[in-house]
Amino acid sequence: MKLEKPTNEVSRIKTLESYDILDTLPEQAYDDITFLASRIFSIPISLVSLVDSERQWFKSSQGLDAVETHRDYAFCDHAIRQSDHVFVIPDTHQDSRFSDNVLVTGAPFIRFYAGAPLVTPSGNVLGTLCLIDREPRELSDAERKTLSVLARLVMSQLQLRISLIEAEKNNKIQRSMEASMRESEERFQAFMANAPAVTFIKSKEGKYTFANKKFFSVFNKTPDQVIGKTDQELWPSETADALRENDTLILKNNMPMSLEESTPNTDGSLSYWLSCKFPLHDVENNELIAGISIDITDRKFYEIRMEEYQRRLEAANTELERLSITDALSGLKNKGAFSPRLDDEIARAKRYGLPLSLLFLDIDKFKQFNDTFGHPAGDDAIQQVARIIETYTRPSDFVARVGGEEFAVILPCTDAQGAFIMAERLRRGVESSIWAKRHVTVSIGLAEISDTLDNSQSLTNAADKALYEAKNNGRNRVARNH
Ligand code: GH3
Ligand code: MG
Ligand code: MG
Repeated sequence: MKLEKPTNEVSRIKTLESYDILDTLPEQAYDDITFLASRIFSIPISLVSLVDSERQWFKSSQGLDAVETHRDYAFCDHAIRQSDHVFVIPDTHQDSRFSDNVLVTGAPFIRFYAGAPLVTPSGNVLGTLCLIDREPRELSDAERKTLSVLARLVMSQLQLRISLIEAEKNNKIQRSMEASMRESEERFQAFMANAPAVTFIKSKEGKYTFANKKFFSVFNKTPDQVIGKTDQELWPSETADALRENDTLILKNNMPMSLEESTPNTDGSLSYWLSCKFPLHDVENNELIAGISIDITDRKFYEIRMEEYQRRLEAANTELERLSITDALSGLKNKGAFSPRLDDEIARAKRYGLPLSLLFLDIDKFKQFNDTFGHPAGDDAIQQVARIIETYTRPSDFVARVGGEEFAVILPCTDAQGAFIMAERLRRGVESSIWAKRHVTVSIGLAEISDTLDNSQSLTNAADKALYEAKNNGRNRVARNH
């Protein structure tokens, strides 16, 4: 009689497969149980039978040579449908379900069958521990109970197997995790050891917990001298303080930072480092500081040299600029500097409504002086006039040598009257100065800005005109435009 598959068949087969026991070799533990069953019940055949989808397979059998039979004839297929009691056929010949079963009519000629279900913790029945006799027989309550106990022993053995499978699975995971950890650690070590950069990890307190090969070789230290030590123990305090300050910054900000650091070399020079430092946590969640430092000494020296060049270039430019607006002989500003300055001063005076005066000075009869005493003596006289003008002017005044023996003085905030007094003082200063060769005098033309004299062109023309007048009126005098 062929049975319908149990309603939970899919989950039952899946559970059975999870024990991974079908078609395995015989095992002592199961054979011990069937041996015990045969002895206890004085019965020719006892089996640990597992009901697979199309067959029943015997993990252990006493008194039967077959390892499996087709499920269609399997008594156990009936037994597995009740998980809570032993399934008993006292006499197959008297049971219409089994009387024509091939296992009844042929070998092993089953007359009596009793199967105790093998129930998993999840409630699936995998098979039975069953007893078979070739004679009809009854099973007492005590015997049923005994068979159930033995069936539970089989089940314990199967559960042990599951635990072993689980343990092996976990072991495998553990081993593969360990292998991948080891691999990752080895990779990390290889990177760190061969990195061209100095790398290190320090505890929150600043103690080195890791440093790579490059660290030791660059700083010429052994691991013993570094690991477990702080920068204070490795470096002069000034260096250590600076490094610690950066580490503290990383801990405080809790973010990576690129920093320039330096360490002293044995010869007293400095090595410069570009350090990328970042916060890190170990497995116990302790705060750490990790760092990768690249030697930038060459670049730094290059930068320092570049800065020095830059400074020198700027100084040279300043000097060049000074020279470009300075008259070499007198040390006063030259004509090139005079014109723009006059424009500026006129603009400023007009903007603020301030007076502004301009003096033109010309050394009297200087051609004659040169002709008489020679050009070098003439140069000396020009320089002496320049010094006298400087003495009589204020820092805010602007004095320039605008021609061979001609000078201009811009007098900001000075009206014609004030300028006249100043010019007269200047004239007298020249006249009364002590001269090496002969007395030198100057004529001075003066002009003040006004509504009509409101640009450099008209103002210089006016001052020039006044100078011409001073010359015409006998020299060694001051004349102002009218
Ligand atoms: P005046 O009183 O009319 O100004 O007569 P002056 O002789 O001074 O005028 P002039 O313009 O005819 O001559 C200017 C002279 O200044 C010509 C030149 O010998 C002299 N001189 C111009 N530049 C220099 C200079 O750089 N060095 C020397 N030693 N002499 C110079
Ligand atoms: Mg002249
Ligand atoms: Mg002259």
